[in-house]
Amino acid sequence: MDIKQYIESVMETVKKRNPGEPEFHQAVTEVLESLAPVLEAHPEYVEAGLIERLVEPERIIKFRVPWVDDNGKVQVNRGFRIQYNSAIGPYKGGIRFHPTVYEGIIKFLGFEQIFKNSLTGLPIGGGKGGSDFDPKGKSNGEVMRFCQSFMTELQKYIGADTDVPAGDIGVGAREIGYLFGQYKRLRDEYTGVLTGKGLTYGGSLARKEATGFGLCYFTEEMLKANGKSFKGQRVVVSGSGNVAIYAATKATELGATVVAMSDSNGYIYDANGVNLEVMKNIKEVRRARISEYVKEVPSAEYHEGCRNIWTVKCDVALPCATQNEIDEESAKTLIANGCYAVSEGANMPSTPEAIAAIQGAGLLFGPAKAANAGGVATSALEMSQNSMRYSWTFEEVDAKLHGIMVNIFKNCAESAEKYGMAGNYAAGANIAGFIKVAEAMMAQGIV
Ligand code: NDP
Repeated sequence: MDIKQYIESVMETVKKRNPGEPEFHQAVTEVLESLAPVLEAHPEYVEAGLIERLVEPERIIKFRVPWVDDNGKVQVNRGFRIQYNSAIGPYKGGIRFHPTVYEGIIKFLGFEQIFKNSLTGLPIGGGKGGSDFDPKGKSNGEVMRFCQSFMTELQKYIGADTDVPAGDIGVGAREIGYLFGQYKRLRDEYTGVLTGKGLTYGGSLARKEATGFGLCYFTEEMLKANGKSFKGQRVVVSGSGNVAIYAATKATELGATVVAMSDSNGYIYDANGVNLEVMKNIKEVRRARISEYVKEVPSAEYHEGCRNIWTVKCDVALPCATQNEIDEESAKTLIANGCYAVSEGANMPSTPEAIAAIQGAGLLFGPAKAANAGGVATSALEMSQNSMRYSWTFEEVDAKLHGIMVNIFKNCAESAEKYGMAGNYAAGANIAGFIKVAEAMMAQGIV
């Protein structure tokens, strides 16, 4: 059988079955295309319909989330949970609250999560969830009532050994707290059903920092393998949420100068290196806009329009905001300005055209599913600690996270090399993540 044709026919079915979901089509295409050499070497996977099964979620749950706002008005949002693949462990993946959420976004994120979770080397399957609820501008009371309504339905489908959600865009410590409180109240059980919990009720030290720190550990390995390091480099980090703040923190600790960060309105440029205490206060404490930064650091500049952050000259770019935030034009600007490495903290932040431009120009490229896997890896460590009724120190968790990220890089590099694509860490990540899941699915029969 011609493998290229086979992959195209699977893609056609995916598009027909999931119309109007371009992000999902994009994520599946990117993975399947890089699996061609693996499928050539393993015809038994094709025979077992493994790819057809892999692209179809095991279960999709979609539900109404009614809640009452501060004016007494009834609001209705939509909730989703996709339990994508449980071949190697219970479903695991974040919950996103953002107005752009619809089934296609949750599907793309859930699909990516399968391979990312596999890459961590820990026993976790792929899942994802969310809602089109926008927490921005809502009072604490409104967020709490929404979370309680969301969990009232979701609790029927999750559990510490079944499906363990975490945070993502719009879901941080506050939201996880409200969700956990409602789960406990309805189910009358104190289990590790969510990760990203507060430290007083079962959370893991270093979970908050994990995705950003992990991104920098992975990136440092990639730089080292190519004779470079963060030391003395100019770094641009997009976003100013959980991933961005701790990526900027670790990059700075490793000797880089982070010169720009953004939110969905605009970006700040600070030639002296972003003052992260000021940034954390604005974003984590006050939940304010990034434009506030220049009031406190007058030597910095604020520019409207978040996309223009990629016009800032840098050596290393760390996109940590959202999907498709680097398009072809932005990629070409980065290249023209001398950037030599792009490493993805957000999920699918680069369009396919941007990736082609980045790899085509010989830049180092750290793909999201490997580079940002530190968050879910540490979530799995939180699950272990909850099961043991025990807590590791910050240093212990951070050391485990570091070891996991070094290993993920090594796996990506070796898998790419084994299949004739040395240096293509994106292909390496897809292949390494896939093989473990494929072997488990083969062993478990047609399910
Ligand atoms: P947060 O909600 O904490 O922060 C998101 C940041 O991105 C904010 O600065 C936000 O700005 C900005 N942003 C969101 N949507 C857009 C948009 N459409 N255009 C421009 N900027 C936008 O989320 P996280 O930091 O948790 O997540 C960021 C990315 O990292 C996501 O892709 C997520 O899936 C991924 N990720 C997160 C993990 C985690 O552990 N949290 C783990 C692995 C991946 P504003 O406030 O203006 O909306």
